[in-house]
Amino acid sequence: MKKDNLKLEMQDAKALAEGYHSWYRYVEIFGIVAFAVLIALIVRRTYLYGEGRGFLIASAVMTGYIMADFISGFVHWLADTWGSTTMKVIGPALIRPFREHHVDPKAITRHDFVETNGNNCLISLWVGCICIFMPLEVEGYQSLLIFIMVSLGSMIFWVMMTNQFHKWSHEDEAQLSGFVKFLQRAHLILPVAHHGVHHTPPFDRYYNITTGWLNWPLTKIGFYRTLEKLVTMTTGLIPRADDIGLDAAIKIAPLVGSDEHEPHADPSRS
Ligand SMILES: [Zn+2]
Ligand SMILES: [Zn+2]
Repeated sequence: MKKDNLKLEMQDAKALAEGYHSWYRYVEIFGIVAFAVLIALIVRRTYLYGEGRGFLIASAVMTGYIMADFISGFVHWLADTWGSTTMKVIGPALIRPFREHHVDPKAITRHDFVETNGNNCLISLWVGCICIFMPLEVEGYQSLLIFIMVSLGSMIFWVMMTNQFHKWSHEDEAQLSGFVKFLQRAHLILPVAHHGVHHTPPFDRYYNITTGWLNWPLTKIGFYRTLEKLVTMTTGLIPRADDIGLDAAIKIAPLVGSDEHEPHADPSRS
């Protein structure tokens, strides 16, 4: 069976949008303020310990950028694939935005700063705390510890920027500045056509949304399909059942599905 013939049962966009509760907005605002304080402290710590270590700091920042791309894909895959909007707390707060995004991809462009960035700031707070409190002055390991601290700090900064890059990839071209369009075309941030691969039903690949650099290699090695097989084998859960409906999800599930799993073309690699 071809994926084009799959009958998807997506959820109602309006009901999903209404699931954004006002109390959760206060949690997000707290997350953004706490995140900004942590980033300022990490930058200060990097400045204090970074003298004479320019190359080390630059490599750590780049490592953090690539780690953020991986994390963006992994968390996106988790939230797209498992759980449901009816679960307590994480259902409305964390899973709902991902369901909404598939049925109404433009909704993200209508989200303000708090709704766009709150979640990513919240999930990064504990890592920011590690960066602030981890010891750096251990004899013989100082460079390694500074590298780890800056990599983690860079990672959470780019994780925070991820939803902004993602939002830009859905924005009408006229709304984007020339600089953002340049970054997208140079594939320094998530390009529009590249991300379009993920938005092709049944939304089962190209989860990475910071730069998307890891999408092609992870698809090539079957990274997410292997994880889905492992989860189904150990729990019996069917991937994507809450997102596209149980019938369609069973047809394409890597362990039980009958669908030939042909890859979508990646426009950025043609
Ligand atoms: Zn998705
Ligand atoms: Zn998207």
